[in-house]
Amino acid sequence: MHISDVSNKTSRRLLGYLKPYRLGFVVAILSMIGYASVDVTFISQVKNFIDEGIDSKNPDFLKYAPVFVVVMFIFRGIFHFLASYCLSWVGTHIVKDMRQQLFEHMMRLPVSFHDKHSTGDLISKITYETEQLKQTTNKALIVLIRDGATVVGLIALMFWNSWQLSLIFLVIAPVIAITVKSVSKRFRQISQNINTAMGQVTTCSEQMLNGHKVILSFGGQAIEQKRFDKVNNTTRQQDVKMEAARAISTGVVQLIASFALAFVIFLASQPAMLESLTAGKFATIITSMALLLRPLKQLTTVNGDFQRGLTAAASIFRILDQLPEQDTGNKELGRISGHIRFDHVDFSYPGHEEKQVLKDISFEVQPGETLALVGRSGSGKTTISSLLPRFYEIEKGRILLDDISIKSCTLSSLRAQMAIVSQHVTLFNDSIANNIMYGLAEPVPEERLLEVAEKAHVLEFASQMKEGLNTLIGENGVSLSGGQRQRIAIARALLRQAPMLILDEATSALDTESERKIQAALDELLKGRTNIVIAHRLSTIENADQILVMEQGQIIERGNHQSLLAKDGAYAQLYKLQFGSKPA
Ligand code: ADP
Ligand code: MG
Repeated sequence: MHISDVSNKTSRRLLGYLKPYRLGFVVAILSMIGYASVDVTFISQVKNFIDEGIDSKNPDFLKYAPVFVVVMFIFRGIFHFLASYCLSWVGTHIVKDMRQQLFEHMMRLPVSFHDKHSTGDLISKITYETEQLKQTTNKALIVLIRDGATVVGLIALMFWNSWQLSLIFLVIAPVIAITVKSVSKRFRQISQNINTAMGQVTTCSEQMLNGHKVILSFGGQAIEQKRFDKVNNTTRQQDVKMEAARAISTGVVQLIASFALAFVIFLASQPAMLESLTAGKFATIITSMALLLRPLKQLTTVNGDFQRGLTAAASIFRILDQLPEQDTGNKELGRISGHIRFDHVDFSYPGHEEKQVLKDISFEVQPGETLALVGRSGSGKTTISSLLPRFYEIEKGRILLDDISIKSCTLSSLRAQMAIVSQHVTLFNDSIANNIMYGLAEPVPEERLLEVAEKAHVLEFASQMKEGLNTLIGENGVSLSGGQRQRIAIARALLRQAPMLILDEATSALDTESERKIQAALDELLKGRTNIVIAHRLSTIENADQILVMEQGQIIERGNHQSLLAKDGAYAQLYKLQFGSKPA
């Protein structure tokens, strides 16, 4: 009951997607019914052909028979084309709409949603599940309407010709239905196994391709080969099982049908029957029976197809039902002066409420000052920086920019206040110039772009490339070194001219040599802004106006470099660890 409620709701929602294309859908349905009518009409003429044409040698009738055959097949072809074309027109439109909707919706979902779901899973919803939905429902519709109409027509024809002989059909139909049903159950199980096995083949290949270098350097080829051979063979075995089940089921269904046929022939040979039966009627019944087999078999599996389509639809709707980021604030921030205040902020990640990541965090940064966050990894530094652009909502306390709570601002105006550079630079498959200008509403003048690229030391390497700043950098900038990627990220931040800057271990992926190179670029970036710097090397934070030392979500020390060293506490210890016995 509950399950059917859910699938009712899902189907109704699917119908909503159909609405704009209902005209095409109606044409498709009419054409499918037309197609079935042609088939039934054709069979209904078998009796006349045999009885009038061949038995009575009626020349008029025979003259028209060839024309009739060709005309019928012309109609059949037209209906087939119309039905296929319209169904595919409707289906592709629906898939396109759903994909677009999924894409846009996933983009609007909060960071916490993406934390919980694997990228591969989400991608497969956009690419694969929408397609599967189309294919299964398409097939189910064709079977239900076209084959359904054929079955109804043929059965009517049989009873019309000889209801006595046709009675056998009432006995045989349920037997075939039950057989096919039990076989379909096995089909479903095997196809599930095939899906799982295919998933393993994909996972295994993905691992090999991603970890190619590791495999080479650790000599893992033999292990990977064996692992792949195993899953590869499992897929093959399941495929064979599927084919075997299919072949056996066809045989069994045909055997059952042969019993029916034998029974009809036996009945027809009874003297009482023979009197009322013409050759034409007999032929019609036998042909109808033979033609009924395929559509009947299809009809018994139609439910399975629908179910598979509905499962895909339900899984898509589950994503679409997730609440997007709550943009409840309505204050449009102009350019702020850059005053930041955290006021007794508590925070835990959604879904991990048992662990409090930030405890009672309070601090203040004056416009134009630089605040440095230091502490062991996992102490909550990145978390603080993710709360400012409201990637997550805090449960207690307030965060204020220029004395305005960030909750009351619109997300876009809030995020426009800050530029973030982190250890992981995301680059898009585009030119260096477009990566620097990413997200800007209007193109910037050439000189400004060059100026920024110069300051961020991007020109230094870009000018050595064939097409300079217009060089395409490939997917996620694979052709660039860590330092080069980082410099593009810095140029991007420079161009934004945001009043606030957040640097989260921006240089930790770099060696000392490259770090020194981009230090100048970073200094340029820090000028004239309010900065929050999370650094992995203490040398970059000695000049900060204020340093917070974090441990397990709490601020355990605060002050500037000199005062903290004098205090000889946690900061002094970190400092000693970093620089060994060398004097500062
Ligand atoms: P830091 O930047 O100081 O190394 P983080 O702020 O990244 O530390 O992490 C603080 C704590 O929050 C860690 O214990 C980490 O396991 C946890 N954490 C970080 N990100 C998430 C997340 N997306 N979901 C759940 N827990 C997280
Ligand atoms: Mg971090």
